[in-house]
Parts: sequence; structure tokens; C-alpha cells
Amino acid sequence: MLIGIDLGTTNSLAACYRNGRPELIPNRFGKYLTPSVVAVDDFGVLLVGESAKEYSVLHPLQAAKVFKRSMGTDRVYHLGDKVFRSEELSAMVLRSLKEDAEKYLGCPVTEAVISVPAYFNEFQRKATQQAGEIAGLQVQRIINEPTAAALAYGLGDKDKDERCLVFDLGGGTFDVSILEFYKNIVEVHAVAGDNFLGGEDFTEILAKMFLEKNVIAPESLDQKNKNRVMKAAEICKCRFAETNSSLMTIQLNGELLKTEMDLAEYETACQPLLDRIRKVLERSIRDADLKLSEIDRIVLVGGATRLPIVRKFVIKLFGGFPSSIDPDTAVAQGAALQCGIKEREEEIREIVLTDVCPFTLGTEVNKSNGVFDESNHYLPIIQRNTVIPVSRTETLYTAHDNQSRILVKILQGESRLASNNLSLGEILVPVPPGPKGKESVEITYTYDVNSLLEVVVKVVSTGISRKTVIQGGNTKLSEQEVQERLEKLSYLKQNPRDEETNRLLLLRGERLYEECTGQDREIIDQAMMEFEQVLKGQDRKEIERAGKRLAKTFDEIEGR
Ligand code: AMP
Repeated sequence: MLIGIDLGTTNSLAACYRNGRPELIPNRFGKYLTPSVVAVDDFGVLLVGESAKEYSVLHPLQAAKVFKRSMGTDRVYHLGDKVFRSEELSAMVLRSLKEDAEKYLGCPVTEAVISVPAYFNEFQRKATQQAGEIAGLQVQRIINEPTAAALAYGLGDKDKDERCLVFDLGGGTFDVSILEFYKNIVEVHAVAGDNFLGGEDFTEILAKMFLEKNVIAPESLDQKNKNRVMKAAEICKCRFAETNSSLMTIQLNGELLKTEMDLAEYETACQPLLDRIRKVLERSIRDADLKLSEIDRIVLVGGATRLPIVRKFVIKLFGGFPSSIDPDTAVAQGAALQCGIKEREEEIREIVLTDVCPFTLGTEVNKSNGVFDESNHYLPIIQRNTVIPVSRTETLYTAHDNQSRILVKILQGESRLASNNLSLGEILVPVPPGPKGKESVEITYTYDVNSLLEVVVKVVSTGISRKTVIQGGNTKLSEQEVQERLEKLSYLKQNPRDEETNRLLLLRGERLYEECTGQDREIIDQAMMEFEQVLKGQDRKEIERAGKRLAKTFDEIEGR
């Protein structure tokens, strides 16, 4: 079975295409969103999702979050005495989604369409694909998040012919896509984004405001307290969806701090983030060769678009109200639709989806400045926002007399200087020595729908050719390494699925106990002792009933 997965910075979720429509898949707790958090507890037991998120509050050094931002890099995360790369952590989230989907659908799930920010570069995309493989999923297609969201949005009404801008502000990334729907064709005109801008940055600003108001130096807080401030800021931020001022409450070093946070003041503090958002929007519209007034519809996606500051900004900029779509689930629904298109399901097999490449791909060349040749110039071969799949060829000539080799550097990026762009690899070919400019090579870049770049360099005079497929440079895992990681993960101890609900409850209780004081602590302590007693009895029905009672007690305390 093939499923669509939105592997998000903050939350992830899966969906499938069944009975003519996308269907969201609930996780083991009956929820659609699984937090993208991984932890390893003191006993070496692996926690993923909701329980890892709970555990992370009291044990921040044993948990990893927001690792999507480090995909495709060499950064490692230390969880207790274990070390993981981002693609391994992502693989654990994917595996958890896969297991939940198998349970829900009642059949093995072996293939997936996974979404990535449109602005992910080659290494980040490849790392995502590898995360899928480590989780035991064959990745059939990598789809851009905003494209997936637009697919979910646009297919509701097939007769639509309009230009639509998808504004996707998630937990850690910001993505913009401009698409046109025409009959059954969904054409992407431009994508742009910022991989380091998201809801978490808005939370950080609120946390900073709170510390300033209470004259607390951020350096004076340990990791646990920093996490508490961030958690309180997150709750306070989400409340702005309903009110203009929100109370931020937090227990710090035994003292209960309460500060009223004002939306207007917060908006002013967020201005630098809004300016960054504006720049990305302007660039995408320019790339699509459009004017603001030619955009028919704005679709907001990603949890952070719930923030009134962001909505207000969009309304002001575009002079109209955005379309409503469920910002949390749109991407997963779109990924599921892509599964349907891939499997050529009756209802949607006619849909044609064209996408673009998000970055310019090129090579380094020498250029004459009138006096002598200068190196380090960038020659774009495939310009950003070209419709894919695409194949383009450029011819380069020898730069010196008696040159016997030509080195073709494969670069990705927008800078005029070759050295400022991302190096994806290189190809060296021999050429017969001769006068400068006599020998030449044809360089062909081919970029496919899964963002795989193939480069062929052919020496014109000898016909010698070399080919490489960019697979993620230094971060590439070999087949054997993928296998080794798969085994490493399968050796990690995990809670049995049916015990996970109880584990989550106990973790929540431990966190609440630390956060509360006085009588609430006594209530929590008593309730947890009773629950632990019931757990020892091993009577399933009784445990379920006691669990519900305990959750209700916690809800009451947290709701105060
Ligand atoms: P996503 O990656 O799409 O799941 O988005 C997660 C981001 O959305 C996080 O930074 C959340 O803080 C943010 N978010 C979720 N709900 C709200 C809300 N009601 N108001 C403001 N931000 C929200």
C-alpha cells in the first residue's frame, strides 16, 4: 500500500487515497498529528511522537525536535548515550506513522509519497528519501509541500481556472508557491522560501519579550527552564488566535510568574520576521512574471498561519481575504492525492501536475574582464523555477593552451560568484592538449520530477563522456549504510504499542507535578499512585477506565 506523508518540522501525519478521496490516518492515540519529536529514556527505550514530546519537557537533553531543519547536514544529536543524524530521527517518525497506518488500514505499508518544503535543496531532499528507506518505505515520490497543499485545495472544484499563491508557514520553514489551475492541469509557476523561518521564530520572540519584561537574562536559565519558557510562549502565542492580549504563566525556580502579553506590542516585535516573509513573496511573484493583482487566490497552509499577525499581514498585502483550508492537514491530503494520481485512480487519473526546480543549477566558468580571465564566475544552466522535468546543455571551452583536463563543478544556488553556491559534486574529463579554446565539452543537466539531477559531460572531439547522478554529496548513505541503520534502529527498545498510552499518561503526570505547586501536586501524586496500582493488576479494562479518570484529572488541572 502507498501512503502520503507530511513529514513536518513540528508535527507529521499520514493519509491515503481510498474510495475516491484522501483519507487522514489517525495515530495510535486516535489523533491525526504526531509530534516530530524523538527521545531515548533513562532505560534506553525509544520514544517517538506524543510520548517523546511529553518526555522532552523534563528531559530536554534526551530528546530531539525540529531536526527537519538539519536534514542533509552532518549535524548529530546526542540522546543520552546514543547519537543520531536527522535522517535517522526522521526515519523513526516515519516508522511510527507507517506502523499506525498498517494498523489502521490492516495491510502492510511499503511505499510512500513524502512531502518536503519546496525550498529544500538536493541534499535535504535526498536525506528525506533516505529517511524513508531507513524506515522501510520505498519513496515513490518527493512532492513539494505547497504543491501538495494546492492539490488538496484545487481538486475540490475541477472547473476552476485561476492563479493561486500558497503561503505555507509551518513550524520551521516558510514556503511560497504560485500555481495555475487550468482544467485538469496544475502548473507550478514559481516557488520560493526560507528554510529558517517558521512558527518557532514567532514563539522565540514572545519568549524573549517575556524574559525582558521580567528582567531575566536568557543565559541565566538552564535548558529545562528555557524549554518551559518556550512552552509557555507557545501556549500564549496560540491564544492570540482568539484574543488581543494573552496571559503568559510560568513556574520558574519555584516562583509563579504571570505577565500579560499584548498583541499590538508583539506585532511590532515580529516586524523583522514579517519583512523576511515579504521579501520571499515578492521574489516568487517576480519569478512567476506576475503582478500582485494577478493572483486570484491566496491559500494559507501550516500551523503558524493561524497567528492573527500573519493573517493580517497577508490581508493587507494582497488586499483580500485568504481561502480557508485546514492548514494542518492540507499537505498530507495533497500527498495522498499524489498517491491516487500515481496509482492512476479512476477519479483523478486525468490530473496533470507540473512542478518547477526551486534553485538554479549551474557550473563555474572563467570570464574575461577585458584584460585577463577571472575564475569563480557562475554559469546558470537550469534557471530556478524552470518547469521540470528539464534537460539543458551548455558548451564550455578549454581556458588555457595545452590544457589536458576539464573540471566541471556542479553547483546549486543564485549567487554570481561560483564559490558562494552549494557544491553538489564535480566531473573531471580528459581532453587532447591544444591551443586555448580549441577543445570543448557539452554539459547536460537533467532534472527530474523527484529532484534528481543527472549531469553528463561529453568531450566533443573524442566523444568521451562521464555521467554522475547527484545523490547528496558527503551525506549520502550507501545501500549498506542504510541497511546498517535499519538494523541499528530495530535494536532500539520500544514500548509495546498498547502500553504507550499509559506511558504517555505517566510522563504527563510527571511533567504536571513539576509544573504545579501546593494542592495540585498532592492531587496529581495521589491520582498517579492509584493509577500505578491499577497498572500492577494487569486488568486491561480496569487500566483503561483508570487511565480515562487520570486523564480527566490532568485535563482539569491544565485547564485552570
Ligand atoms: P506545522 O509545522 O504546520 O504543524 O506548524 C506548526 C507551527 O504552527 C508551530 O510553530 C505552532 O506554534 C504554530 N501554530 C499552531 N497553532 C497555532 C495557533 N493557533 N496560533 C499560532 N500559531 C500556531
